[in-house]
Amino acid sequence: DLGQFDRIGPYQWQIPQSGGMRVPAQIFADETLLRDMDDKVGEQIRNVACLPGIVTAAYAMPDAHWGYGFPIGGVAAFDPEQGGVVSAGGVGFDISCGVRLHVTNLAAADIRAVQDKLAHELSRAIPAGMGSRGSIRLNDAEMADMLAGGAAWAVAQGYGRTADLARIEEQGKMAGATPEAVSAKAINRQREEMGTLGSGNHYLEVQRVDQLFDDAAARAYGLAPDQAVVMIHCGSRGLGHQIGTEYLREMAIAAPGHGIDLPDRELACAPITSELGQRYLGVMRAAINCAFANRQILTHLVRGVFDRFFDAATLDLLYDVSHNTCKEERHAVDGVSRRLFVHRKGATRAYGPNAAGLPEALSATGQPVLIGGSMGTESWVLAGDARSEAAALSSACHGAGRAMSRHQAAKLWTGSGVTSELAALGITVKSPSKRGIAEEAPGAYKSVARVVEVAEQAGLARRVARLKPMICIKG
Ligand code: 5GP
Ligand code: MN
Ligand code: MN
Repeated sequence: DLGQFDRIGPYQWQIPQSGGMRVPAQIFADETLLRDMDDKVGEQIRNVACLPGIVTAAYAMPDAHWGYGFPIGGVAAFDPEQGGVVSAGGVGFDISCGVRLHVTNLAAADIRAVQDKLAHELSRAIPAGMGSRGSIRLNDAEMADMLAGGAAWAVAQGYGRTADLARIEEQGKMAGATPEAVSAKAINRQREEMGTLGSGNHYLEVQRVDQLFDDAAARAYGLAPDQAVVMIHCGSRGLGHQIGTEYLREMAIAAPGHGIDLPDRELACAPITSELGQRYLGVMRAAINCAFANRQILTHLVRGVFDRFFDAATLDLLYDVSHNTCKEERHAVDGVSRRLFVHRKGATRAYGPNAAGLPEALSATGQPVLIGGSMGTESWVLAGDARSEAAALSSACHGAGRAMSRHQAAKLWTGSGVTSELAALGITVKSPSKRGIAEEAPGAYKSVARVVEVAEQAGLARRVARLKPMICIKG
């Protein structure tokens, strides 16, 4: 039902304030994406717009779909000085799930020459699947160091290089983490899960640069036609999931005591300045460090495999950015700079050129915005657009977004069918779960090409490179 939306730009729609909404709700989409979007997305961002202390608007990115409480593809910022809240549901269960992309000195033909063997060795080296365990075991002291140090901890342990850290959001180490406040249950779930992909749509992909859309940006990012690149998508594994579960429950119970009337129980939240809000922020930041460390260890494992296949292969990190977070940032609201807590759930930060916090080499171009599509279609590298700050607090889409539920997909496809169809296209898929492959069939996702075109038209990010999959190691 498009009737509830006012068109406020060629690619921007608004649900005006009504009822308990404190700000409008906005969706970035074209008519087709909007019509195909879950009806729930409109309802969910309207509910988000009702939360205390929200500023500017509740946003949905062009890849948005139904999620737990907040839609996936949701962005919302809160002012701590105006009763603003932090929401465990607004961050999501896989805290700091994110994507990193490595550029290599290899061409697609180098990969093709060893494709099946390389896929096999990658699948042996990278533990994937539900509850997958790695070869690393951390004791309590090591867990605490990891949760405080993130990827910087991982590098100090010998996983990867110091140079990698400059290419990770927050230099790979989120300040303000409180490992001591993380529950024993969350710690115990994670001890043996470092350096693992996990299940579902987490993946490690070898891709080739198929087409460039912005030569200058591609040069700055070190991307060239037909080059091989490696993309990793995963998050904070059992630890993040346990923290999400615990705090959703605690925030829902505590809400009335904080004077918060939840429009939907799944939007459980607490005032940023409350003891509970502060405690959540501390453990969420520890989970961010867990995700940074996890992806850093995976980088190290992948480099080890590439070293066995190629002489002097380089896998330089282009960038690593999370898409399930709540971060304290400064943003201009009506011309006034304010300290806000920005939730991005299934949405990525997309800093434009010269934003503070970008490494020098990327500053003039803007932040790499890393977007997965599906294992059969394509993925994208975009660059943050200066206009994204005014449009959506420097945020952009994070994927294609699901077009149907996992359940529906599993009825339409089989794992072996998808695997052989992709093999015929030259794409090697390895996964411990046949059902997982069916649920993640390329047809279960929206058109990522359409989503990124809308993101560009809406001023969220500019297209730089299209990547085509060659090998997908799937959770
Ligand atoms: P999410 O973070 O919401 O779990 O997933 C992010 C996006 O990753 C999805 O919207 C989808 O477009 C993309 N994606 C899912 N599976 C794959 C895959 O196997 N390969 C690639 N390249 N992208 C994927
Ligand atoms: Mn995830
Ligand atoms: Mn993700």
